[in-house]
Amino acid sequence: MLPDAPLHRLDLDWLRESGVDVAILRLDLIDPLISGNKWFKLKHHLRAANDAGAEGVISLGGAHSNHLHALAAAGKRFGFATVGLLRGHPVETPTVLDLHAFGMELHWLGYAGYRARHEADFWLPWRQRYPQLHPVPEGGGGVDGASGCADIVVQARRQLGHIGWDDYDGWWLACGTGTTLAGLVLAESQGRKAYGAMAVPEGHGVAQHIQQMLGSSMDRAYELLDASRGGFARTDPELLTFIAECESQSGIPFEPLYTGKALLALRQAVEAGQLADGSKLIFVHTGGLQGKRGFTGERRR
Ligand SMILES: *Cc1c(COP(=O)(O)O)cnc(C)c1O
Repeated sequence: MLPDAPLHRLDLDWLRESGVDVAILRLDLIDPLISGNKWFKLKHHLRAANDAGAEGVISLGGAHSNHLHALAAAGKRFGFATVGLLRGHPVETPTVLDLHAFGMELHWLGYAGYRARHEADFWLPWRQRYPQLHPVPEGGGGVDGASGCADIVVQARRQLGHIGWDDYDGWWLACGTGTTLAGLVLAESQGRKAYGAMAVPEGHGVAQHIQQMLGSSMDRAYELLDASRGGFARTDPELLTFIAECESQSGIPFEPLYTGKALLALRQAVEAGQLADGSKLIFVHTGGLQGKRGFTGERRR
């Protein structure tokens, strides 16, 4: 439905000085509005909605949510209804203005109301109110979300020849829930390793969530690293300076919540000699640039 994400070599001075070769898969470029890993995570959910004869999709997220943004844009593009359940109280972020413009119906749940989303009876009233809509978990997660990410592997492999590679050793990407990483690990049969740069601090159950999606028998062909720099959505001058330098050298935009932190974690691993000389890695640009518009650098939840 959307074109392949382009794969190209990533040219940065700190990579040139190292023995590590990196290509970048630009999920941020698949579409002007439906951007990033969220589209891949949504694919199988949308197919399930279609198979169930649903008229649309209901899901949830915050006022800067890349997930709701991609979902609302897809609903507008492909002509299905979307309802968003939002964390907190009404605010007009650039993301929320887009959600309205894309025709998503919004309900603000407050903070306590949003925290209740994991409770068993949370969906009941919403299912009664919108019986014709298919519910999708926060962030497009779960097994359907992970399996849609197998296409990321397919798209990268199709283009290896274009960059003069016949093979690669692994993946490097930002992790929130770990759903995208789980999808890559599930799609990789030859034991290529996926490195997950966690944008959330330890203790958020990312490892357990990934293991749950992979099943206990799965070999651990992945490694998680803390890239959160003290908290989700926390930034600091070193990170912001690093992002600005990488953007001007490469011409590629990054945002400070996920992709910028993942790239900085990669530089740290390269400089610490944690990656074997001659390694070929694919860095997944997971998108998220729409959220950058509302970003002021202060902490938000
Ligand atoms: C949501 C998001 C992630 C995290 O994806 P998970 O599948 O939850 O790990 C990474 N990068 C960007 C830009 C995102 O929007």
